[in-house]
Order: sequence, then C-alpha cells, then structure tokens
Amino acid sequence: MGDKKIIIAIDGHSSTGKSTVAKRVAKKLDYIYADTGAMYRAVTYYGLKNGIITDSLNKNALIAALSKIEIRFKLNKKSGVGETILNAQNVEKEIRTIEVSNWVSPVAELTEVRRKLVEQQQEMGLEKGIVMDGRDIGTVVFPDAELKIFMTASAPIRAKRRYNEMKVSNESISFEEVLDNVEKRDHIDSNRKDSPLVRAKDAILLD
Ligand code: C5P
Repeated sequence: MGDKKIIIAIDGHSSTGKSTVAKRVAKKLDYIYADTGAMYRAVTYYGLKNGIITDSLNKNALIAALSKIEIRFKLNKKSGVGETILNAQNVEKEIRTIEVSNWVSPVAELTEVRRKLVEQQQEMGLEKGIVMDGRDIGTVVFPDAELKIFMTASAPIRAKRRYNEMKVSNESISFEEVLDNVEKRDHIDSNRKDSPLVRAKDAILLD
C-alpha cells in the first residue's frame, strides 16, 4: 500500500480484548503490533525470578536492576505474532500467569520503569505503521497518534474473558481470583500518579 502510514493507539481497561483487536488491525494493514503490557509483565517476571519481588516488591532493587533488563519482540513465523524475549529468553508464556498479573500494576507504578519502557516504545513508532496497545499510549507514548481507541467493558465480562483464556493454558484458577485481579489492576492503573489510565480526549470510546 502506498498510503501514508499512521500510528494507532489502543488503550483501555484490563482484558477488554485490546490485543485481539490490535493484532487483527495490524494484520489487515500490514502494520507492526506492539503489546506494551507484555513489557511491563516482562519486568515483573524478572523481579519474581531474581528475588526482587517476594512477599513484597523491593522498589529500589528493581530500579537498580533496570539496566540489566533487555526486552524485545521476536516474530513467531508460524503464528505470525511477536513473542516477548527477556534477556534472550522467550517468556511469552511465563508473563501471562496470575502471579505476574498480581504484581504487574505495582511495578508499572514506578516512574523509572515507565521511563525506560516508554522510551523504547516511542522508538518502535518512529517509522509509524504500528498498532500499539496499553494504558497510556494515546495520552503519553504517542499523544499525536492519528487514531486513538479506548476500550472498556464491565469487570465481570472482562474477567470471564480472561478466565476462559487462562483455562486454555491449564492454569488452575478460579473466576473470583481473576475478577479480583482485574478489579485491583484497574484500580491501581487508574489511580497511579505517573501516566494513569484515562481516556484521551480525542480517543474513540469502544464499549
Ligand atoms: O495489557 P496487560 O493487561 O497485559 O498489561 C498488564 C499491566 O501492565 C497493566 O495492568 C498495567 O499495570 C501495566 N501497563 C501499563 N502501561 C501500559 C501497558 C500496561 O501500566 N502501556
């Protein structure tokens, strides 16, 4: 296509299907798809693996470790989807567990973590032709994105979605646990000081 490439920012609450929509749009337009939640999840997974997150999050230790954390995406040719690589290890499956989900929002509150990941995300969009999903894409990462979508749905509907997804990957988990996680993440994500989850004024609401 000779058309001018744009940036498409998809934000919204947890488990609204942002990534499903973003992947389909990217495929259709032959754009790159970037899952920013996976990046926050990878940092969280690193913290869990390295004793930085135990019963509590050691914020200073995580901030000090940031220079040792390298995250990138590698295209899985079979599925056509980018998989998350953390320091040369494919962690695509590991970052989707409930344990990571339970710690990711406190990690994503840290300004130092956000600064590092946002910088990398902005580099990914330099040549446009990208669909990026997250919480602050239309507000902070790409405030000038040509198209912004904000997705939401009721918490039980979103939890059901995530619960069904997790059942497929065989994780033994209850619906209540998933609902609790979705609600807690929304609360932290929407109330944090740095880059809270809000609908950009010029974002199209998709309920
Ligand atoms: O999109 P996903 O649900 O995988 O994101 C996991 C968590 O990462 C969110 O609940 C949020 O705390 C954090 N996140 C963020 N900013 C983004 C993307 C994700 O703070 N742009």
